[in-house]
Amino acid sequence: MATYKEFHQYSIEQPDAFWTEQAQLIDWKEPFTQVCDFSRPPFAKWFVGGKTNLCHNAIDRHAAKRPNDNALIFVSTETDEEKIYSFAELQTEVERMAAIYKSLGVKKGDRVLIYMPMIPQAAFAMFAAARIGAIHSVVFGGFASGSLATRIDDAKPALIVSSDAGMRGGKAVPYKHLLDEAIEIAEHKPNHVLMVDRGLDKGFNKVAGRDVDYATLREQHLNARVECEWLESSEPSYILYTSGTTGKPKGVQRDTGGYAVALASSLKHIYCGGEGETFFSTSDIGWVVGHSYIIYGPLIAGMATIMYEGTPLRPDPGIWWQIVEKYKVSVMFSAPTAARVLKKQDPAYMHKYDLSTLKHVFMAGEPLDQPTHEWFQNELGRPVIDNYWQTETGWPMLAALHGVEKTPIKFGSPSFPVYGYNLKIFREDGSECGANEKGIAAVIPPLPPGCLSTVWGQDDRFVSTYFTLFKEPLVYSSYDWAIKDDDGYFTILGRTDDVINVAGHRLGTREIEEAIQNHAAIAEVAVVGVEDKLKGQVPMAFAVVKDATRVATPELVKALEKEVFSTVDGILGAIGRPARVHFVTGLPKTRSGKMLRRSLQALAEGRDPGDLTTIEDPSTLEQIRNALAS
Ligand code: ATP
Ligand code: MG
Repeated sequence: MATYKEFHQYSIEQPDAFWTEQAQLIDWKEPFTQVCDFSRPPFAKWFVGGKTNLCHNAIDRHAAKRPNDNALIFVSTETDEEKIYSFAELQTEVERMAAIYKSLGVKKGDRVLIYMPMIPQAAFAMFAAARIGAIHSVVFGGFASGSLATRIDDAKPALIVSSDAGMRGGKAVPYKHLLDEAIEIAEHKPNHVLMVDRGLDKGFNKVAGRDVDYATLREQHLNARVECEWLESSEPSYILYTSGTTGKPKGVQRDTGGYAVALASSLKHIYCGGEGETFFSTSDIGWVVGHSYIIYGPLIAGMATIMYEGTPLRPDPGIWWQIVEKYKVSVMFSAPTAARVLKKQDPAYMHKYDLSTLKHVFMAGEPLDQPTHEWFQNELGRPVIDNYWQTETGWPMLAALHGVEKTPIKFGSPSFPVYGYNLKIFREDGSECGANEKGIAAVIPPLPPGCLSTVWGQDDRFVSTYFTLFKEPLVYSSYDWAIKDDDGYFTILGRTDDVINVAGHRLGTREIEEAIQNHAAIAEVAVVGVEDKLKGQVPMAFAVVKDATRVATPELVKALEKEVFSTVDGILGAIGRPARVHFVTGLPKTRSGKMLRRSLQALAEGRDPGDLTTIEDPSTLEQIRNALAS
């Protein structure tokens, strides 16, 4: 048995041998003739000449052997529905959807834009596209018409699949009028809009000739058989736009064969999930975690996957654990923001259920602060594994590989570079950082299988956005600021544009947030750098307290702020001390749980907060404004 280090080294030194082995985890219609074509750096093509299909690997090959095993488990605490699709049933539904696509004229290479809530038909829609070689582009259901229109114009879909409404916190959230508005604004017009009518918005508008009804068409294709289209490994499977936390979203283009291999290998070596087990990811199909670890990854590994429509708190904060018990979940995947929400609840909700099937819990999307990490792992009594990656990479760049070696977890760290990624930390001059030295996390290309092949329709943007950090060496920049300790454990300190320069010292916002989190009264905190005439920049903190009585009077606020200062002084020294700590009851985050630091910083500097279409709770901004004014 190799150590994780040997495994990683093997992948970097002998990539052809390494990836040829991993490629055996999926089915190939025709074998590849070259492992990696890197003749035109930084563009990489994996498994050249090989023919495969994502839908075949996720569904058909399992349906052939284990037709009646659970494949897709739909749980909605919004509509109180639960429905299980076996592999055979899932294949049937996907073939029906694929037949509908064909009847609407969708061909291989056409784009299908999917703007849907977390319902099984959204999964059918994605698989049906993959099945016939169409390219799907899922747009998160929380986006409004402006963001949707930009994506329509970029992806130019032949077909849009949508639904009348989503549900959130027990209320219907109508989608169709937003979609109509988006199509109105967009220059590109789709030929058809396929509507899945959930009966949640009775009076939704139907455009004659363009809009067609899913249920009616499904009836016409009940017995349809649609074979998988075998795609050359590099042919695109999907386009997914990045979250847009730092600016204009980029259309990440994913290949087919490389992605299937990367996911299959990650289920084995990182997520440790096997055939017949159940995977529960609490993400949304609109995000990359949803693509890789709700839709494709678990099913490729022969696992059942849970598709959950609902919040972590309804009907009560035990709901996720109830699902784990009921469906014998072995692997769970969530986000730090959810862990911080659960941390505020009574732990009895977690301990009420039998969680004995659960082997690991994975967290990604934002820095998992050390106190929350420690709390979660201790409370659950099993490894909580932080994993760091991006929409661009499609699967983890940093993680513990418990399928290879059970390395100890260090709280606050996503452990080590994952096999295939020659990931290092660089100084701004392009030289490599030593241990305990902060720098920019970057990957020496070729990027491993599964990572973006290019920016959709913009090869030049792929190169100029990601590969021009230095003149030499050629590297893929993550735009994240990181540090590695003496034992090789990495920590992500924030995005490179979140680095604060205080009187010549460079601090990541994450470091200051982490220090503040150590004060027992603080539930959650965001730190931003604010322009300062004397010092260049000063850190400013916005904190949520666990118990509101701690900030009930101006005197108490002052006293708590002082305590927080001394907590930070004790950990980072006075250099990390924020200029102010503002206490609020909520922080502005995107619907995917990412802190809107750019907006916070803009408000703190008296500027316009910018594009807020993805904000979860707009009232948090009002609070920030009030806090700043006080
Ligand atoms: P955009 O690139 O459009 O601004 P985004 O970067 O927010 O959007 P994503 O690809 O969803 O879009 O997010 C990836 C980023 O999330 C990473 O670059 C990193 O900053 C952060 N991130 C993800 N996982 C972790 C983690 N485990 N620890 C720390 N940060 C993480
Ligand atoms: Mg990004």
